[in-house]
Amino acid sequence: MMNVNKAEFRFYEELNDFLRPSLCKKPFIHYFRNNPTVKDTIEALGVPHVEVDLILANGEPVDFAYRLADGVHISVYPKFETFDISGIKGTGMPALRNPRFILDVHLGRLVRYLRMLGFDSLYENNSEDQELVEFSLQEHRILLTRDRELLKQEKLTHGLWLRSANPKQQAKEIIIRLDLHSMVGPFSRCMECNGLIENIDKTSVLNILQPGTLRTFNDFFRCTSCGKVYWKGAHYQRMAGILKELTEDTQSSFLVREARPDQI
Ligand SMILES: [Zn+2]
Repeated sequence: MMNVNKAEFRFYEELNDFLRPSLCKKPFIHYFRNNPTVKDTIEALGVPHVEVDLILANGEPVDFAYRLADGVHISVYPKFETFDISGIKGTGMPALRNPRFILDVHLGRLVRYLRMLGFDSLYENNSEDQELVEFSLQEHRILLTRDRELLKQEKLTHGLWLRSANPKQQAKEIIIRLDLHSMVGPFSRCMECNGLIENIDKTSVLNILQPGTLRTFNDFFRCTSCGKVYWKGAHYQRMAGILKELTEDTQSSFLVREARPDQI
């Protein structure tokens, strides 16, 4: 008979969202045989490795390849841009400044909010899991999904599991968890195709738009990619209202973080 070894684990902050309730927010004993890697153990407990930023073994930072030994104390911290672990070596995955995203197939409404906020966000409603992972790696895009299993893909380095099923709440979650408030650039991207929006002269749309629109508005914008023309009409006012809602609620991210994301 092989010996059964023990390690003490403690998961911090929102990593607890992935654990069984009996293991949440306190140290617990994990039993294991042989010497599994800390990465495999963390995922077996339910936490996708891409959500993890820092692992301490007996107080010392270790990487994912670290192998558990009997009696070790493991602390696991989430990928919080706002959580100050500067100066400590994390899991070796570089943080993505200027974040770009790729969205899983079920996030078609979220992608419009992210583009409205100005974030570079790719989305196809027929992407295969492997394509999502490949794009994420090739273009350094954070993979957004509600599917935890997708985030456990071995090769994936940057991903975020969205707690909420509500698209607006999801957009808020992303702003708060990645601390993106200062990077919001409203109306800089096309909601349809992710292209960048440029100012255009009114004379260039005279033959395209309805006379009423031309009489009422003077500022026009065009997507540099698909050519869609935008102006500050009723649709714009509605979007401005949504943007206000998304950004106001997330301004004081420290306070909001006190609540679980699906209750914000
Ligand atoms: Zn476009």
